[in-house]
Amino acid sequence: MQRLHARYPFLEAARETVATETVDLATVVEQERAVVERARQRVITALEDGEIGEPHRDPRTELLSYPVARVLVSMVEERVLVRRYARAEAETAHERFTADLENTTELKSVESTGLELAELLAEFDLEETVTAESVSASATTGTGTGSGTGASAGTGTGTATAGTTGTTTATDPDDADRFRIDVGTYLPLAADLWDDEWGLVNQPLTDGDIPVEKDDLLLLLREAIRDRIEDGLPFEVPTTIGDPLEDAAEEVREVLANLDLTREIDTVVPELFPPCMKALLDQIQKGEHLPHHSRFAITAFLSSIGMTTDEIVDLYRVNSSFGEEMTRYQTDHIRGETSPTEYSPPSCATMQSYGDCVNKDDLCERIPHPMAYYEERVDDADDDELEDWREGDGDGDGDGDDGDDAQNSETDSGDETDASTDTTSNS
Ligand code: SF4
Repeated sequence: MQRLHARYPFLEAARETVATETVDLATVVEQERAVVERARQRVITALEDGEIGEPHRDPRTELLSYPVARVLVSMVEERVLVRRYARAEAETAHERFTADLENTTELKSVESTGLELAELLAEFDLEETVTAESVSASATTGTGTGSGTGASAGTGTGTATAGTTGTTTATDPDDADRFRIDVGTYLPLAADLWDDEWGLVNQPLTDGDIPVEKDDLLLLLREAIRDRIEDGLPFEVPTTIGDPLEDAAEEVREVLANLDLTREIDTVVPELFPPCMKALLDQIQKGEHLPHHSRFAITAFLSSIGMTTDEIVDLYRVNSSFGEEMTRYQTDHIRGETSPTEYSPPSCATMQSYGDCVNKDDLCERIPHPMAYYEERVDDADDDELEDWREGDGDGDGDGDDGDDAQNSETDSGDETDASTDTTSNS
């Protein structure tokens, strides 16, 4: 087995190697404790540290630990585990191929443990939609016609992006200075990259292509890897494979439970809110009057993410018809402090039926509930993005001058109530 496959087990070639050279996975998990141990370490380290741990010195053990790790993740069957595991594997792959690409010459001359960019693009069928270019500075200005598609070689004189003008040469990806990526390819890869800089409105789209620097292309490839790893997880595990792994799976369950990822969310970062809640919060802050169902939705949402009655009541003060007593009563009722039920915010379906679902984005297509949206955004955010609004100026502008003690959270957001149960109607 090639070391390359052990280093990048998500490659199709690695999968084929496992299928053809190995064996039946039931025998591996029954007889090869080193493989199971490494698989267990992969998953637990992913959960605890966002990495997959040190590779095993034996490439075969390392490679086989990958499919076994996927089995463990499937056995535990928790969405947060799938996401964290896939992200950790993709993050590790990104670190490795970034290092490989910086050292290609040295590695090529020794042994094929490194991955070349052209191979990576081909792995994800991107060789036709990502164009590699090198640019040589030129005193000549003016535009011309560029040529060359995909990773194929070709030359042309064109106008360089980012304000540089020079001679553009289509080139091998491993020799390129910059890249252009077809917008249809870019969008799904950038869908889970939340920084505004990745948004299409901030990209200089030219002839259906978006220019990207090499570092950004590598981040997009990390996302492609994450998608591939996440794809198909969790799957049904045959008992012949699952039974010998039950102890390891139980250990993963315990780690997951101890990390308390299902605790109540307690992080208020408006810029990570789902579009519907951002819009409702915006209306509150402008002092606009909200219909009952909208008021119920935003109040239940803010309560569910950790805001207290006092904090929520303060938000409504800007409304000219604000009445503290009634607002406090309604909020306490929704929070379950003066009623037998702690209400959940409405599901997306209910929000849609009341016309409160607005400005949907890509993530909205994949989630059933505004809480699921927020949980995923919070879980995916870097620590420095999790600045709790309540510790700053409270203007919801996410200007980053607040504190930073936010906690990641993961809950199963139910739809325990419908907006029609809105108890605020007695206002
Ligand atoms: S799809 Fe759901 S989360 Fe997105 S805006 Fe609509 S209600 Fe909100």
